[in-house]
Amino acid sequence: MTYVEKLLKYQEADEKLLKVERELAGSQERKNLAQAVNFVTKATERLEALDGKALSLASTLEELNKKYADVSETLAEFENLDELLEGGADISFYKKNLAQISEKLKSIKQEVAALTKAIKDSNEEFQTLYTKNRAMQKQGKEYQEAYEKLKAEKRKESDIIKAELAKLSQDVAPEVMQRYQSKRSERIFPILCPEQAGRCSKCGSELSLAGKEKLLTGGVVECDNCHRFIYKP
Ligand SMILES: [Zn+2]
Repeated sequence: MTYVEKLLKYQEADEKLLKVERELAGSQERKNLAQAVNFVTKATERLEALDGKALSLASTLEELNKKYADVSETLAEFENLDELLEGGADISFYKKNLAQISEKLKSIKQEVAALTKAIKDSNEEFQTLYTKNRAMQKQGKEYQEAYEKLKAEKRKESDIIKAELAKLSQDVAPEVMQRYQSKRSERIFPILCPEQAGRCSKCGSELSLAGKEKLLTGGVVECDNCHRFIYKP
């Protein structure tokens, strides 16, 4: 057997391994798990952000309470307005003052309404997301179990193929094997392709003159375009 034939045999078995790997990577079990993990990660971040928002809303509420207390204090000064007026105080001054207080109260009322809405919205969002997140965490555990089960099944299959590959690799020169594995890790597959009318049969790129000559002597050349190994079939 030529080394090209040996390598082709290796590649044939390797293709089975690739199929098993792809089946696991493309499985619904893996997709489900990835989606659940993604949801929980994002939801946890959002819940933390909402927690921070709740703190900031609480401090805004505190400020508003202080403002309200200040205005109440000012209002208390009006309790003895009768006495002040009897004593000859200027009524227009107090009228102006009252108008200002009324404006302030109006503004505080608006702020309280906006804040109440913000707190309610934030709380609702938190509760809804928290419930969803708990459910997804539970679901995620089931997805994890299903994925682990599939992974174990696939590992059994791939272990058998890997044992076969280990045997077959003994027939291939180590430096050739190394180059093959390096291509494999670049996700190129098939790695070894036949030449077809002076071209790479995989991407159609024409081989150089030197390359074509090398093929005639039973050698292997690398395609300039897709970097696969080309051999003469
Ligand atoms: Zn090519």
